[in-house]
Amino acid sequence: MEIAKFYTKAFFEDFNKLNMRMPDVIEPATNCIPEFIHMIEVLLEKGYAYKAGENIYFDTSKLDNYYVFGSQAEEELLVGAREDVTEDENKRNKNDFVLWFTKSKFEDQALKWDSPWGTGYPGWHIECSCISMKHLGERLDIHCGGVDNMFPHHTNEIAQAESYLGHKWCNYWMHVHHLNDRNGKMSKSKGGILTVSTLEEKGYDPMAYRLFCLQSHYRKPLEFSFEQLDNVANQYEKLHRKTLEIVKSAENAPVDEAAYGTYRRQFADAVENDLNTASALTVLYDVLKADVNAATKKALIEEFDKVLSLSLAAESEKTAVSGDFKDYVEKMIELRKEAKKARNFEEADRIRNELAEKGVVLKDTREGTFWEMA
Ligand SMILES: [Zn+2]
Repeated sequence: MEIAKFYTKAFFEDFNKLNMRMPDVIEPATNCIPEFIHMIEVLLEKGYAYKAGENIYFDTSKLDNYYVFGSQAEEELLVGAREDVTEDENKRNKNDFVLWFTKSKFEDQALKWDSPWGTGYPGWHIECSCISMKHLGERLDIHCGGVDNMFPHHTNEIAQAESYLGHKWCNYWMHVHHLNDRNGKMSKSKGGILTVSTLEEKGYDPMAYRLFCLQSHYRKPLEFSFEQLDNVANQYEKLHRKTLEIVKSAENAPVDEAAYGTYRRQFADAVENDLNTASALTVLYDVLKADVNAATKKALIEEFDKVLSLSLAAESEKTAVSGDFKDYVEKMIELRKEAKKARNFEEADRIRNELAEKGVVLKDTREGTFWEMA
């Protein structure tokens, strides 16, 4: 749990730095054990699951179309590429997967729960389907993930969720491709992990990295290098200076509704075309050069930045929050936590208000309190 908390906090800190919006619900898998057990029970009842060697498995042979994202041959190639594939003789079919473990290769698994099949823990595919159904219902519009999740993870999620529900589960799947360096995929196992905090320590504005990502299509692999990032950091600085200039100089003139409508439509077309952020950025650059008044440009910049989230109209970059200010906020969050613990809710509210006056928005989650500038 300590390890999980450490990485959750680090993840959300970097997440905030990239101007991403906090989700309304963050649900740790460990909170949903009864839901996992329920879904597995239903899958057993419906005949989609079986017990073998004290584990519960999903039976992939019960499905007409298990390989939803591609052909069997392609996906088996991907399986071969995975490092953690080990043969399990309890499986009836090669791609059957565990729904509930009571016996596994991790004999010293620390987190275990009681279940109708013995003390153990859930398989990781079941976690995702249950958590999303619990909060978003039985039909999802969009499900995202990395391209490396297509098989087996998302394939298995669909298999179990649709067998459980008896109908289609997700309308769209959006898979983002890898961030590579010159030597290939950056991955934790190769020690090549790069975090936003590392970039910040090296003096880069996280917004420059965000712009770097937006310049490429999410379904294409993105090659990272510091030379490339230096280029984009320059571009971001120029872009930000220019947008800020426009926003500040915008007189109280009326917005040119026709021009506004045309550019807004172009921008929306780009975004609606499978999230073509590179084209959307081109529309932004067109607006900067366009022969329309500053008030119209300002309105468009603000509208586009609701999607791009590049802090285009912000006086100073997000990172300009000083170290002292960060320390102050962290300290106040700590004091508020103590006040709450002592059931002194008046004091806790006072601290929240004091921070709010300084533009700090608090978000309480089970993992702790996160903050961002309003
Ligand atoms: Zn998942």
